[in-house]
Amino acid sequence: MKQIIPQVFTFANLLMGRVYLIEDSDGLSLIDAGLALAAPRILSQLSSAGYAPSDVKRILITHGHFDHIGGLPALKAATGAQIIASGIERPYIEAKQAPALPPKEALPPMARLMAATYTPPIAKGTPVDREVNEGDILHDVLGGLHVVATPGHSPGHTSYWQPQLGILFTGDVIMCLPNMRLPIAAFTPDMAQSKRSLQKIANLKPNILCFGHGVPMHNASPRLAAFASKVAAG
Ligand SMILES: [Zn+2]
Repeated sequence: MKQIIPQVFTFANLLMGRVYLIEDSDGLSLIDAGLALAAPRILSQLSSAGYAPSDVKRILITHGHFDHIGGLPALKAATGAQIIASGIERPYIEAKQAPALPPKEALPPMARLMAATYTPPIAKGTPVDREVNEGDILHDVLGGLHVVATPGHSPGHTSYWQPQLGILFTGDVIMCLPNMRLPIAAFTPDMAQSKRSLQKIANLKPNILCFGHGVPMHNASPRLAAFASKVAAG
């Protein structure tokens, strides 16, 4: 586990899909759950840090893709945490519906090839306990974590924002591999909408970006602004 700022950490060695840990006086919150293989790794890293599984009170989900919710069934079973997500993402997280994919004919050639040769796996479903919407504030988390709807990569894609600390948990509205980039086109059903969501998070002027994929970035606001204007310019 690696500290990003006081109270906020990220787990190591999850292969794909970053998972964050937030410490509060009443217990822990996770943001996203990684691949299925992430669950035992998260639990063992928590144990090394002196925590019991039951210290995890909440798991916040950005969106229902397999690399963000694969570890959720095992983490829910081990921790009993409340699963929090957008209601729009609920059918994907609960595996009642396959994740939305873009129409193949709308994709650029390389993305079309990727979409034709690879279908993302569908993670096992986990019931959502609490739905959140744009503007909601999770008062128990990090002194007030704001729910920001950032649809496009997934219809109910959600980012989480703490304005006083200037820290944003982006999910996949932006990736950093190793430079800032848009989400993978083949797995983004509405890229135009996702680009609008990118402008929305750039307007927040976050100081710290905690990506769903990539290394967390400090002093990020000028780089995010530059990337967002490059994207807006097409
Ligand atoms: Zn995704």
